[in-house]
Amino acid sequence: MARNLDPKCKQCRREGTKLFLKGERCNTSKCALTRRNYIPGMHGVKLGKGGRLTGYGIQLREKQKAKRTYRLLEKQFRSYFDKAISEVGDTGENIYKLLEMRMDNVIYRAGFCNSRDFARQMVNHGHFLLNGRRASIPSINVKVKDKITFRPKSLEIEEIKNLPEKLKNKEMTDWLVVEPESLTITVLDVPSSEKSKPNFDLRAINEYYSR
Ligand code: SF4
Repeated sequence: MARNLDPKCKQCRREGTKLFLKGERCNTSKCALTRRNYIPGMHGVKLGKGGRLTGYGIQLREKQKAKRTYRLLEKQFRSYFDKAISEVGDTGENIYKLLEMRMDNVIYRAGFCNSRDFARQMVNHGHFLLNGRRASIPSINVKVKDKITFRPKSLEIEEIKNLPEKLKNKEMTDWLVVEPESLTITVLDVPSSEKSKPNFDLRAINEYYSR
């Protein structure tokens, strides 16, 4: 499947916010946004002072932020909007739920992988079981009460052996439960943007596609 191959840090700098695309590096002083806090190609212009965005410009940037955060291409992202609008309830909230409940995102949120790209690769390589069955499609939407575990053979990988220790200090999102010893994720609830406070505006995304 086609992927977003643009330089990751450049995407954060374009959006003016950390999208956390590079794992541990994002939380260090090496983060490009800390060192070069200006829009690529506009050297010397500080973010927030480089130009006045119109309503459309704001909507576009919010959509781009979300799309880049979840590592999706336009067609894939648009299809989430189409699905969200066909479901009952608030469209923005539906988009958020669909994006967050992707299997690769759940694995990232649980701390099993330090970036969504890595989580997607691990799913693609067949390292996970969903409710006991092998699942190798990162875009699978999980449901409440679903359980994700490592495939027994994958537990022999050195980095995975160290995971239980790492997970002990991880602050967990409220809609997932992770058992560090058995490396099991249970989906407890549906994610809510009100509680999780994403770094993009769902209403603006809805407005962008509803024009
Ligand atoms: Fe974005 Fe991470 Fe690069 Fe910082 S280090 S700019 S958060 S991808």
